[in-house]
Amino acid sequence: MCKTLLSIVILAAFGAHAARAEQDLASLRELALKDQRAYAVLESLTTEVGPRLAGSAADKAAVAWAQAKMKALGFDKVYTEKVSYPAWVRDGASSAEVISPFPQNLTIAALGGSVGTGKDDVTAQVVSFDSFDALSKAAAGSAAGKIVFINQKMARSRDGSGYGAAVTARVAGASAAAKIGAKALLIRSIGTDAGSRTPHTGVLRYDAAQPRIPAAALSYVDADLLARMLTRGKPVTLRLQVLASVRAGEYSGVNVIGEITGSTLPKEIVAIGGHLDSWDLGTGAIDDGAGVAMTMAAASLIGEQKTPPKRTIRVVLFANEEQGVYGGKAYAAARKAADEVKLQVIAAESDFGSGRVYQLATKLPEAQLASLAPLFDALKPLGITQGDNKGSGSADFGPMGELGAPVADLKQDGTEYFDFHHTANDTLDKVKPEDLAQNVAAWAVFARFFADRD
Ligand SMILES: [Zn+2]
Repeated sequence: MCKTLLSIVILAAFGAHAARAEQDLASLRELALKDQRAYAVLESLTTEVGPRLAGSAADKAAVAWAQAKMKALGFDKVYTEKVSYPAWVRDGASSAEVISPFPQNLTIAALGGSVGTGKDDVTAQVVSFDSFDALSKAAAGSAAGKIVFINQKMARSRDGSGYGAAVTARVAGASAAAKIGAKALLIRSIGTDAGSRTPHTGVLRYDAAQPRIPAAALSYVDADLLARMLTRGKPVTLRLQVLASVRAGEYSGVNVIGEITGSTLPKEIVAIGGHLDSWDLGTGAIDDGAGVAMTMAAASLIGEQKTPPKRTIRVVLFANEEQGVYGGKAYAAARKAADEVKLQVIAAESDFGSGRVYQLATKLPEAQLASLAPLFDALKPLGITQGDNKGSGSADFGPMGELGAPVADLKQDGTEYFDFHHTANDTLDKVKPEDLAQNVAAWAVFARFFADRD
């Protein structure tokens, strides 16, 4: 065969192959849109396990549930990897009561990781700051013996950027307040649910240089109420009881991992997943039952297709994301120790509720970006556009990204996410089945593309 003819034959074969791959992605997408299994998985998790605080008995139940569910969904390999962390315990419902000048109760929730108030409640005057920034600039001793209140509102946005701007008040507020002498911290909940009396929990971090003081979040309307009292020009005194503790020693949990083994390149890994733990107030439907369910469903659907994926599709259900990304860090450390970082073709986590995906951002070598065209063609009918090349892998695959593994983010509409995030209202009814299916379609196309591409 002459050289020209040979290259024509090769090009034609390549073209036919590429066209077939695109056809496969399109039909997979349409199948996923009609598939009900993600909702069934999420219904099962939230009903049969419910809240699953890291280190609790329900956390163990969730692990058993995940292993059984993965086997039932056709994963051919299901195993666990150890993850250790200190177990924080909510010892009951915390309470806050205005003693004077206008006695009444306020609705609060202890922040994750907070110490308790002990056998004596904290009773003290309230000093208010409009923002974490204002608190961090306050003079030494200016809150001595008082309860600091951070009255900082969070802005609603599709991409959740308002959360990033506000969450420092929760994460670092207690130590910033302790630094100027405070005995306890109250924050306005980090959420967008104006009009709600449901507080948002979430983790805090203590600075080792400061005394550990108890910390809790007021519901949105109780933060409004306290702020109004403070405008009356009289000292406001609160009694605060925070019921929480940390169990002695390290708790051993696990990441649960399920695989659809690749046919020709089984050692190369397309890693997707969500975190299995949740906060204890709701049933963890949107955070992160949705991410767990949609990535399990997408992999399971791919596993059912006539042609198996070339590379292995691995679903990782991470332990204890909420209190410090313990599962994500352990996963990356294990890959590094086994010299497997180079085998991770792509890694992406779903951890932003069940809103529709509107954009895919990657973090890949620039030279590979042009080859993603068939992927974006297949995602386009789902309303998904190509984002930048500054993806993070989300919280749990972030540590893999830091080790140099290619990562991606399927960005979801989070306009309503922070109305329910980390609250008792994080329940199944907030999830729209058609939005969940759109996510499954996006994840299935995404995983299949990276599993098969040349
Ligand atoms: Zn989450």
